[in-house]
Amino acid sequence: MVGAVLTQNTAWTNVELALERLRDNCALDAEAILAIPAERLAEALRPVGYFNVKARRLSAFCEHYIAAGGFEGLSALETDVLRHSLLGVNGVGPETADDMLLYAFERPVFVVDAYTRRIFSRLGLLDGGEGYEEIRAAFEMALAPDVPLYNEYHALVVRHGKDVCKTRPGCAECVLRACCPAA
Ligand code: SF4
Repeated sequence: MVGAVLTQNTAWTNVELALERLRDNCALDAEAILAIPAERLAEALRPVGYFNVKARRLSAFCEHYIAAGGFEGLSALETDVLRHSLLGVNGVGPETADDMLLYAFERPVFVVDAYTRRIFSRLGLLDGGEGYEEIRAAFEMALAPDVPLYNEYHALVVRHGKDVCKTRPGCAECVLRACCPAA
């Protein structure tokens, strides 16, 4: 969940560096993170960029997490209620909330990210004007509500977006080129 808050607008490798720095401060749980002085927390988060903003967001999330009863308290909530609760935290948008729902709480919620938009737009399945919720609903209607499936699907989308369907797409080596209008 800490990683989900920190990964906005940065690469996961930077998040790993920040997590390592938090670990060096013995701060990977909510109480310990809130116990770090604000300046030291921001300094620990420097690798992820926007570190002052992210420090405030991480603190806000930790306060919410503790007030809600921690993992046990949040886990007791129905998925829609839990999603609404997470979205109520400053700095937690739909993608961050859905990351937490799928990967931390193991709820069947499809995560939509920039790779999803890029690949499915190029495949002609999105026109680029759809909002986050519209895309999420389309995937969830097309797929069974299956946590391992959503987990694997999202991981494959990320892998394809990073390795093949990049900003400059590698269509010549793409397994989807036969059915892709952008190839
Ligand atoms: S064929 Fe090209 S544009 Fe289409 S999905 Fe593959 S890499 Fe992306």
